[in-house]
Amino acid sequence: MADVNLLNFDRDSLNAWLGALGEKPFRARQVLRWIHHRGADDFEAMSDVARSLREKLGATACIRAAPVLRRGCSADGTRKWLLDVGQGEAVEAVYIPEPDRATLCISTQAGCAVNCRFCATGRQGFSRNLTTAEIIGQLWMAERELRASAVGPVGREGGSAAAGSPSRVISNVVLMGMGEPLQNYDAVLPALRLMLDDDAYGLSRRRVTVSTSGMVPMIDKLARDCPVALAVSLHAANDALRNELVPLNRKYPLAELLAACKRYLRHAPRDFITFEYIMLAGINDSDKQARELLRRVEGLACKLNLIPFNSFPGSDFRRSDAQRVRDFAAITTEGGIVTTVRRTRGEDIDAACGQLAGSVRDRTDVAARRASIPLAPISA
Ligand code: SAH
Ligand code: SF4
Repeated sequence: MADVNLLNFDRDSLNAWLGALGEKPFRARQVLRWIHHRGADDFEAMSDVARSLREKLGATACIRAAPVLRRGCSADGTRKWLLDVGQGEAVEAVYIPEPDRATLCISTQAGCAVNCRFCATGRQGFSRNLTTAEIIGQLWMAERELRASAVGPVGREGGSAAAGSPSRVISNVVLMGMGEPLQNYDAVLPALRLMLDDDAYGLSRRRVTVSTSGMVPMIDKLARDCPVALAVSLHAANDALRNELVPLNRKYPLAELLAACKRYLRHAPRDFITFEYIMLAGINDSDKQARELLRRVEGLACKLNLIPFNSFPGSDFRRSDAQRVRDFAAITTEGGIVTTVRRTRGEDIDAACGQLAGSVRDRTDVAARRASIPLAPISA
């Protein structure tokens, strides 16, 4: 039975698995390159791999990402895939092209257990962890599809660092889709390693960002294992408010979270933490709260990314108006923190955290809901 999915393996585990088949370690390099450089899903195409190994692989293994249920393409070039992860569950990946980079936002869980008040994914509850194959499979599939649809490689900056690899369409990856990546650490870590591996995606560690709502022990683990860029979803500068918005704060309060951020930077010298801060009208967006935030992060190398709230059916918050966001940003900038405001992208295809899959996931009538998703169809 061809049931070992090679997308689950990073270099070390592929080495070990091939070793158990009696193969030499250099085979792992060849196979990795076929899969992740060339996007192969067919062992017969692996022309420089010995025929005997191709036959063994064909009999025991497969290369399989989650099937695409739907594709969306926004007028601004943003693309979105809705992926079937079985049992009526769907997750999403979003591609965001910009002049100097092209970012893929990927999911790590179906649903999420953290249950942030403002988050459509959180509202769905937790269904299950994605496997490494389902996580890296989003990048594998998006590269294949974008290349096939003749999306060119990104400019100067963006090309892959991997020697001998084909030009990459995707220059940056962010784990900011559905789910809390650090609550699925064991599957996320091999996927991160593949993103950085020159024989796979060859991205520099600053072009891969893990976003977390604040899993303190796992922040420390990530620092030791694979210190990629870290984004922390802060959203409030005191425990009383953060406890309400991000329930995980009750377990790991702000002082502990900020201490973990400081420790992280020891493993990632010359880096900074990106604090994400969703702007909720009348909740966390006052001048006073901007100043409180400044005091809280004093002495920590960080940037601040203000995120306009994306409302969804049943959400009980409102987006801060543009002037409020500018005034808030003026205070934090004045206080010395580089502050950016996230541009909203792909709004015509609901390309915000958890929104599309949220509208699909309904155990009672999945098919009917799927049929009603307002997406402009595109070809792969
Ligand atoms: N679980 C991780 C990563 C996924 S969420 C985390 O929370 O960091 C990615 C980002 O989207 C987080 O900063 C999250 O706060 C934000 N987000 C969630 N719901 C949102 C909404 N309705 N509007 C705008 N941003 C949202
Ligand atoms: Fe989970 Fe992140 Fe959504 Fe919070 S914001 S519920 S941690 S996906």
